[in-house]
Amino acid sequence: MKALYWVVAFLLSSASLLGATKWKYVRAPLTDLPKGFIRDHIRDDQYAIGYLPAETWKNLTPELREKMVELDARAWSEAQFNLKTLQEIQRPVINEFGPFEEYHTYTSLTSELKALAEKYPQLVTLSSAGKTVDGREIWIVELSARDVVDENKPQLLYVSSMHGDEVVGKEMMVYFIRDLLASYGTDERATQLLRYGRLFLIPSMNPDGTERHQRFNANGVDLNRNFPEMNEQPFSTSGRAIETINLMELHRNHHFLVAANFHTGSLCVNLPWDHKANSPGEKFGDDVLMMSLAKEYASHNAPMLEVQGGSFHDGITYGYEWYQVLGGMQDWASFFRGSTHATMELSEIKWPSASSLPGFWSNNRESLVGYFEHGLDGLHLRVVDEKGALVQNIGVDISTAKRTLTYNNFVHRPTVAGPQQVTLKAPGYLTQTLTVNPSRFDGTYQTVVLRK
Ligand SMILES: [Zn+2]
Repeated sequence: MKALYWVVAFLLSSASLLGATKWKYVRAPLTDLPKGFIRDHIRDDQYAIGYLPAETWKNLTPELREKMVELDARAWSEAQFNLKTLQEIQRPVINEFGPFEEYHTYTSLTSELKALAEKYPQLVTLSSAGKTVDGREIWIVELSARDVVDENKPQLLYVSSMHGDEVVGKEMMVYFIRDLLASYGTDERATQLLRYGRLFLIPSMNPDGTERHQRFNANGVDLNRNFPEMNEQPFSTSGRAIETINLMELHRNHHFLVAANFHTGSLCVNLPWDHKANSPGEKFGDDVLMMSLAKEYASHNAPMLEVQGGSFHDGITYGYEWYQVLGGMQDWASFFRGSTHATMELSEIKWPSASSLPGFWSNNRESLVGYFEHGLDGLHLRVVDEKGALVQNIGVDISTAKRTLTYNNFVHRPTVAGPQQVTLKAPGYLTQTLTVNPSRFDGTYQTVVLRK
């Protein structure tokens, strides 16, 4: 019995060693960021807040140590502080939006998603992207009307809370799912989205982190620094967390045209690239579309729209110009998987009181709907040869973007409004260029014939 106790105690202590104690939460001057420092989203022009490997902390020179301040990560996730004085900023709790409910736990999230899948079998498919380190499921809610039969509906994705202590998005996902399901058949926009799109929602990518109230997964890995970089193999698994691998597999099996992942710690839409400077010639190939999606999101979120200064304009920033992130999900999905993927920061306080959730919902509802609707705006082509057989492996270029996306048989390419010059290339066929007027997908395709 005693031996078992020591084994259990050892397992517990090694688990926490791998997790929270692997990192120190510190304030560091921007001019002296030690190697291995992981920045948090909190904005300031003098200091960075973030995580320093405990080993590095231990070995800092006295001069450098003098400049660093160790902080309580949990306190920082639940309140807002003045970065210079480190005093908590007291703000009145405004709850003008009426009744609120507490945050979902993993257990209550699981029961609610199962109940919704049971209540709306014609609209909901509940599945898992795989298990976490601790054996929890990474739930995926797919919303799409089963009676509208089309194997090639555009696929759209929202992922929240890959950082476990950034939980507002998790609740927004649940509210969004409830809202779409309840208004299907009566509200025109919800009905259109569910009839003609496949909406994938992952409320909690890192449930182990959320249960522990920490940023990292159960092994102390920051999932948003864990995806392959642009010079690596797109699906290399070496050194990756199981949660990262599960999401990579999901992207291998689906082409998510338009996507976003949700964080807290700041208030903005953050655009690719995170890993390199967004100078005019180096911008993301679908930058024009990405920017119009970002504006769709930020323009309907009043507090976000007010964020200005530094790299921020009307609540929007490019990632790298804010701070560089290597191994992020946004750049990986946009670069390797033909996605148009942004990072949404929903709240300056990472884990605000549950009474503020109705207010966040009021600020984000229209943005969440509009962003997905834009995912259905664009070209919808059925590409056949002269005998009417569907064509495979079609490279699609459009005049408002600088990247080629590849499709089989059916093309859904989101674009901004206005006529697009479209070039279609497929092995063994003559290249064809035509002008197409984008439309919101309503189940109909324009047929294009390619000649051998
Ligand atoms: Zn985050």
